Amino acid sequence: MATLLVRSAEVLATMDPTLGEIPDGGMFVRDGWIEQVGPTSRLPTTADRVIDLRGRVAIPGMVNTHHHLYQTLTRAVPQAQDLPLFGWLRALYPIWGRMTPQHVRVATTLGLVELALSGCTTAFDHQYLWPGGSRVDDQVEAARRVGIRFHVSRGSMSLGQSQGGLPPDGLVEDEEAILDDCRRVVDEFHDPDPGAMTRVVLAPCSPFSVTDRLMAETAELARSLGVRLHTHLAETRDEEEFCRSRFGMRPVDYAERLGWLGDDVWFAHAVHVSDPEVARLATTGTGVAHCPTSNMRLASGTAPLARYLDAGVPVGLGVDGSASNDSSHLLAEARQALLLARLAAAPGDQGPLLAARKVLELATVGGARVLGRDDIGTLAPGKAADLAAFRVDDLIHAGALHDPVAALVLCAPQNVDLLLVGGVPVVEDGTPVTVDREELVATHNRLAAQLLAG
Ligand code: ZN
Repeated sequence: MATLLVRSAEVLATMDPTLGEIPDGGMFVRDGWIEQVGPTSRLPTTADRVIDLRGRVAIPGMVNTHHHLYQTLTRAVPQAQDLPLFGWLRALYPIWGRMTPQHVRVATTLGLVELALSGCTTAFDHQYLWPGGSRVDDQVEAARRVGIRFHVSRGSMSLGQSQGGLPPDGLVEDEEAILDDCRRVVDEFHDPDPGAMTRVVLAPCSPFSVTDRLMAETAELARSLGVRLHTHLAETRDEEEFCRSRFGMRPVDYAERLGWLGDDVWFAHAVHVSDPEVARLATTGTGVAHCPTSNMRLASGTAPLARYLDAGVPVGLGVDGSASNDSSHLLAEARQALLLARLAAAPGDQGPLLAARKVLELATVGGARVLGRDDIGTLAPGKAADLAAFRVDDLIHAGALHDPVAALVLCAPQNVDLLLVGGVPVVEDGTPVTVDREELVATHNRLAAQLLAG
């Protein structure tokens, strides 16, 4: 029975509506689960390990709901810097097609460490192309090494250029092989239990890279296996045009026809969605991964975040792939969500505008809900001890200590000082403890250079 005492945080923001924010706060943890939360003076005074958080603010570990970790190898690629989605994809597909299992393992490791440094303790990844014999297994191996909770997807593409899709034929897979591998991966890696470190999601890529048959069969399979469903939807006007001309309907109608609305489904982006469609997402409990940086970087449009929140649609935040962000900083993404929502507010709106605490809630509680988890997302008794602590006694936050929680988002987003996953440190004193950062960066840069050179 290992115990951990975390004490003396400037503020412990629990994100739990009853517990609220606790000055001089802390928590007592046993075997990775939170037993007590409260002011330091009311917690036990000893434990197997004691961590003092003076000068730091603690929040629940954040949850990233959309990423393509392999894209960390192709950030800032010159020929894809200034193009919207379809042109950007066409420029990058041939480069991605040269990846090997080693690229996938190293890119997954680097992206997860980057997320961890930004305060993320649970990450979903959407890899939908598997060149060079790469497999889900490569990603799971990398995530286990890093030590954060990983929702891995068995993503897929099956509609190549010759059939009217966007990706080159060489990057799409046979549909029976995809479904067989989905079964294998769920059987091998999916852990449905509370505290799970690995879960599997079935995730065909998008309307323009997957057939309607594979979409429908994947939904059926996921439900028979009890796993969640994810895809890109309503990301751009080009995608909407593709759906109208190929299927004769808008993206949300297309998803509904294929059985893709429900509380076990969440969509990345959902930018071009009408008011009645927002209502359908809300009534069916279908979730959204809001990815503001990527939507701005690719000029995709502005997702109707305020309408989603008003309607009660489950919303989490996603940094999206690292070729369209080009970073994996979840706290920075929360700031982007706040700024974009304010830019999108109606002219003359007298407020209150979307609050810093609200975007922190989306990054924690919101993400946990979108991924279907009730064991993470808040710091409360019975929840997993997943915690992110940020220094606020530094130059960046000077002058903001009257509200250090809002300052995490309103001041320039920083990396964590401490990150705990199930009570186990993944970042300590601002340094990743599970991997050698310098060696990882050197290997990643070497592989990225090889990949671009062909
Ligand atoms: Zn994406």
